[in-house]
Amino acid sequence: MTGLASKNMEELQALMAELNEPKFRAGQIFAWLARGVRPEGMTNLSRRLRETLAQMPYGGASIFDRRVSQKDGTIKYLFELEDGNLVEGVLMRYKYGNTLCVSTQVGCRMGCAFCASTLNGCVRDLEAGEILSFVSCAERDVPCEEGRKRSVTNIVLMGSGEPLDNYENVVRFLRLVSAPEGMNISPRNISLSTCGLVPQLRKFMREAPHVTLSVSLHAPNDAIRSMLMPVNAAYPMAELLDAAKEYAEYTGRRVIFEYALIQNMNSARKHAQELASRLRGINCHVNLIPLNHVEERSLMGVTRQEAEAFMGWLSELGISATIRREMGTDIEGACGQLRRRVLEARREENR
Ligand code: SAH
Repeated sequence: MTGLASKNMEELQALMAELNEPKFRAGQIFAWLARGVRPEGMTNLSRRLRETLAQMPYGGASIFDRRVSQKDGTIKYLFELEDGNLVEGVLMRYKYGNTLCVSTQVGCRMGCAFCASTLNGCVRDLEAGEILSFVSCAERDVPCEEGRKRSVTNIVLMGSGEPLDNYENVVRFLRLVSAPEGMNISPRNISLSTCGLVPQLRKFMREAPHVTLSVSLHAPNDAIRSMLMPVNAAYPMAELLDAAKEYAEYTGRRVIFEYALIQNMNSARKHAQELASRLRGINCHVNLIPLNHVEERSLMGVTRQEAEAFMGWLSELGISATIRREMGTDIEGACGQLRRRVLEARREENR
């Protein structure tokens, strides 16, 4: 059963009716849940109601460990779930506000060749309330700057896991976090990154809040993409690009293509040319990512100069591109790395 933290307004209203409580209590509880408060702390409810709610599973998270980058203030979190599972989150500090990167699954089953999150497969899906708890944990951890309503202003679903592989919970999370009675973070300030589950993407486009879509492309053709991403066998590039184009047209928003530059793989001039020809006609932007080296993986990234050259080739061909700023490199900011270190240390201790 999913916990209290995952409940939406209608479900809370039904629960209040069941408990013979007035309907407006639902709104009060919803606002507390959005702030990550547990029943004991819901001070405007009667003691009896607090006790009843405290009997139910909550389904939230707490901060297990945090590391702050000395370079740029990035905070890497390790969140602990009620069943003891650990998941990562990263808070990146920008001038305009803070962006929280959240995980959507414990691990991942997509099997991308360069990614640390997928090394041990997917342990389980996260509940909507657990993802929401990451936001409220970070919100409480980092004081809000003067004149601002909240410290977490933007959210990216780019941590561990494939969001569209945990479709129902992720859509529920997006509705909860953007609800005006709750955290009220606009879908405009939320990005979802997918490796390209095309049927779910098409469904998402029609029924979910319109967030910014990022597509992890990483290759200019099927031959290279299939080497890096097993998902490409099920949904080849042509299908994925069609769906991405449709998303851009349907939502009126530019789609972001993520492209990790990998030595001797996808970073030569001919790859930029092929990529540009495939993306022509799509309202999009390419986010070039210097591959983060993962110890367990043999693939190597490129130098800053090589990334700039690739960006230049794309620009010459009319494709807008930028190189993603690397943040938190001193604290294992990349997906899955910190969690792996802690799991390994735990295993050592148990020996
Ligand atoms: N499953 C989703 C979201 C999680 S990964 C997806 O695939 O998009 C977030 C982004 O980080 C993806 O673009 C992913 O391809 C990228 N990524 C994973 N490992 C990386 C690495 N070692 N270096 C650079 N980017 C990486």
